[in-house]
Amino acid sequence: MTQPYETHDVVVVGAGIGGLAAATALAAAGRDTVVLEGRGRVGGRVLSIPAEGGAMDLGASWFWDNEPCIAQLAEDLGVESFPHRLVGDTMFQTSEAVQRYSGNLVEGPSRRFVNGTDGLARGMAARLPARAVRLNTPVTAIRHVADGLDVHTADSVLRAGHVVLAVPPALAVARIDFDGQLPTELAKVARFTPVWMGAVAKVLARYPRPFWREAGLAGAGVSRVGPLQEMHDISGPDGAPAVLFGFAPTQLARRTGFEDQVRAQLAAVYDPAAGEPTELLVQDWGQEEWTSPDDVHRLTTYQLFGHDLYQQPTLDGRLHWGSTETAPDFAGHVEGALIAAERAAHAVLSG
Ligand SMILES: Cc1cc2nc3c(=O)[nH]c(=O)nc-3n(C[C@H](O)[C@H](O)[C@H](O)COP(=O)(O)OP(=O)(O)OC[C@H]3O[C@@H](n4cnc5c(N)ncnc54)[C@H](O)[C@@H]3O)c2cc1C
Repeated sequence: MTQPYETHDVVVVGAGIGGLAAATALAAAGRDTVVLEGRGRVGGRVLSIPAEGGAMDLGASWFWDNEPCIAQLAEDLGVESFPHRLVGDTMFQTSEAVQRYSGNLVEGPSRRFVNGTDGLARGMAARLPARAVRLNTPVTAIRHVADGLDVHTADSVLRAGHVVLAVPPALAVARIDFDGQLPTELAKVARFTPVWMGAVAKVLARYPRPFWREAGLAGAGVSRVGPLQEMHDISGPDGAPAVLFGFAPTQLARRTGFEDQVRAQLAAVYDPAAGEPTELLVQDWGQEEWTSPDDVHRLTTYQLFGHDLYQQPTLDGRLHWGSTETAPDFAGHVEGALIAAERAAHAVLSG
């Protein structure tokens, strides 16, 4: 193997919300920190496309009143949010009928970001020291050596005092070679921990205007038929861009004819006009190499979220977990990623 040619106090694996938040805290405490990111962008499961009037979120979109970390981060970064619109009736689709129920029965008070959730990731990355984040740099192997951890990429080895693994655990053990050095029980827990939303495709349908609002609908819907199983209005603050979205299992999204089925479903649930969006975007997270391991749809043991083994460092106190799945609270949400990151940074600084 190549010899280490760089040393750092901390190497963070992954520039999603968890990795960037951990790096922010560590850099602020004066630690020489490098973030290695597999993709050509930061944000991981937050991903937004700019659109007239705001943005369209292909990953996370909401946060809720009981989530202080994300609210604080948005305030610190000056990332503007607005209340999710709840007004209107709910649609319910079964194989027999499509029914309308009075009021919004599926959504509670929450907020979304005017210019997309990925403003949080871009904001944190921009404040890190120059060249702290290296894109297109997947970590391929990690080795515990006498005085640290060697972090391998395709063409380099970085020696780190500490590593923050801010990657879904099941993906980490699928894509990163630990050469059997992870404790057996931890490796097993990681192998079976689901990836939050990793087996899901998010489908966005964009329209010239939010016509469903004119009909007194909230845009919220539930279906027992599919392919979309739940639907929501994620239009911008004043209804622009006008967007309905739904979640579908990745297994369905991979099938031929999926998009036509989505259009037909939207027409059946809302209005014939809903079957003709100006744009239909399918973001299948199950097929994302840097989000989901190949068998992601088989990982269903959600009790493993926030497992005790993720709360303590391993490999001589040098390896720390920093993804949302490892958070003891709010696991799955952006809030969970921030909580995991704070725990990891604290452990590094007190280690
Ligand atoms: C469709 C969808 C909707 C969601 N909706 C919401 C919502 O409304 N509200 C909410 O709070 N949360 C929501 N979430 C969840 C939220 O997006 C996540 O909790 C959060 O973004 C996870 O951050 P993370 O840093 O833990 O992981 P990730 O965002 O997955 O970041 C991990 C990073 O590591 C990188 N990486 C992976 N492997 C390697 C490697 N070997 N080497 C280097 N880099 C690597 C990845 O490219 C990625 O950038 C949603 C998620 C999805 C997919």
